[in-house]
Amino acid sequence: MTRPPRPDAAADGVAGVAAAAPDWDALAAAARPCVACPELAATRQQVVVGEAPAGHRPRFALVGEAPGATEDQTGRPFVGRSGQLLDQLLAEAGLDRAQAAVLNVVKCRPPGNRTPRAPEVARCSGWLRRQLELLDPPVVVALGLSAAKWFLGPRTVLATARGRAHDVDGRAVWATYHPSAAIRFGPAGAPRAGLLADLTAVAAALP
Ligand code: SF4
Repeated sequence: MTRPPRPDAAADGVAGVAAAAPDWDALAAAARPCVACPELAATRQQVVVGEAPAGHRPRFALVGEAPGATEDQTGRPFVGRSGQLLDQLLAEAGLDRAQAAVLNVVKCRPPGNRTPRAPEVARCSGWLRRQLELLDPPVVVALGLSAAKWFLGPRTVLATARGRAHDVDGRAVWATYHPSAAIRFGPAGAPRAGLLADLTAVAAALP
């Protein structure tokens, strides 16, 4: 007999607190002390809540998987090697990071940069869901498979999902490579070219 999944009180707790946040600052203040994931809370330096343009709706949102070591140290998303390459490719594509919200599916660095586990993604989803509600970006760029699956479902395959916008709750969601894959495969590798091509397509399609 298949057991029904156990309800995750921590995920429900995060979702409830996040849903009650009336604005970005309140959400950030509520998220910073979050300890819903015991292992991540014990090993991280800080919660990396994300960044959003002050005072106006973002033109688009960039959503990655989780903070890395530099992000964990600085408290800012996409500022390490991956972030530097992302900034370079955004500029080449004609996109302005200052007009973007920069977020992650999971807000705490997993030890050793391991892939976040399903319960961690489930718990942290409340924060991201509320961030998207509050910021309301019309376009989302999901960077890497974890983010692509968060938006497009667990069976998502990046190779077939990328290259076009998917309508998710009224937002145009583009799935593409994570910049860490572009670093791993090198400057002549397919992920770097694919990421640049996808960002260029997003720039052309921005409302
Ligand atoms: S990963 Fe998300 S849910 Fe887990 S402790 Fe960090 S902020 Fe909380």
